Amino acid sequence: MAHLVTLVPGDGIGPEVAEAARVVLEATRVDIEWDVQEAGAAVMEREGSPLPDRVLDSIRRSRTALKGPITTPVGTGFRSVNVALRQELDLFAAIRPSRTLPGVGGRHPDLDLVVVRENTEDLYAGIEFQMGSEATARLREMLRELRGVELAPDAGVTVKPISVTGTRRIVQFAFDFARRNGRRRVTVGHKANIMKFSDGVFLRTATAEATAYPDIELQAIQVDELAMWLAWEPETMDVILLPNLYGDIVSDLCAGLTGGLGLAPGANLGWEYAVFEPVHGSAPDIAGRGVADPVAIVLSAAMMLRHLAERDAASAVERAVVRVLAERSHVTPDLGGTASTSEMARAIAAALLPA
Ligand code: NAD
Repeated sequence: MAHLVTLVPGDGIGPEVAEAARVVLEATRVDIEWDVQEAGAAVMEREGSPLPDRVLDSIRRSRTALKGPITTPVGTGFRSVNVALRQELDLFAAIRPSRTLPGVGGRHPDLDLVVVRENTEDLYAGIEFQMGSEATARLREMLRELRGVELAPDAGVTVKPISVTGTRRIVQFAFDFARRNGRRRVTVGHKANIMKFSDGVFLRTATAEATAYPDIELQAIQVDELAMWLAWEPETMDVILLPNLYGDIVSDLCAGLTGGLGLAPGANLGWEYAVFEPVHGSAPDIAGRGVADPVAIVLSAAMMLRHLAERDAASAVERAVVRVLAERSHVTPDLGGTASTSEMARAIAAALLPA
């Protein structure tokens, strides 16, 4: 029976790389029925919402989606579609592997780490108070009354909630992931010395939950020190577990350690639904030129195949990517080549076929 999969091409380079992923997946011969659903700024103009219900309904039906990046206006405009999707579908865990691939260069030949990012809480919870608004004026009064704090009248505020419940499930997820994948250590990044009641909850809950996994080492480290270790000796890292914002920043950093955003895949997982998407954004600087690196979304698609229990096809896609990267004759400009997105995708698809 065909796997029903929602495809959200996204915007910017999204449609270009999503098409590339489709070319590669078709070559695996895994039977996939695509339900293509547009979302983002153009949809906002047409339908009044950048994330119409039909997109969520489709993913609730298929339970699985492959998604290209979607642009978020900076500072003003609609809220991030990506964040809304993760919250609506309760995709509480982001998995972002960073592995050194052949032919890519870089200073870390043996890197193989995975960032597990909490995806629903923290400063991404969407609790925002706009500078000068009525709500912010009331918040200022409350803070004065409750804490004796005088908030600057020209301040905007973002609230950072981190709960025991929200942390417990991501900690269990990270340790289960480590166990299933033969990994030995989970490094928890935090800033609990400063944010005692948010990062403090994250750290204390992680420490308590880790006792159920005596076979996996827990390492707790302040996130600034983690940044230093990632610049210095990233090979010493295995699984890195982080609250939402640190996870976002550190996973881009790790992508940079292993050849750039064009190569970094990701998965957003919850108990019921799974959305696979590259770490990178819509890359407006190169959109429409056909030069985006398709590897990040193709490797995200391989993670999706494994999730759909198509393990052989997943491994075949990963091997084909490795082959094309190692041969270097069909790679995109970010990797020093001259191939277009579709040429590289076709080379990966061709590398899938028996020689
Ligand atoms: P970006 O990831 O889009 O781009 C950063 C840099 O990496 C750019 O120079 C870009 O050209 C390069 N790059 C990214 N993907 C590449 C690829 N596949 N091949 C070659 N080069 C690639 O980050 P940004 O510029 O900060 O964000 C642009 C937009 O994307 C913003 O609106 C942001 O909110 C959005 N965004 C969306 C997602 C998502 O949909 N999950 C994730 C991150 C950013």
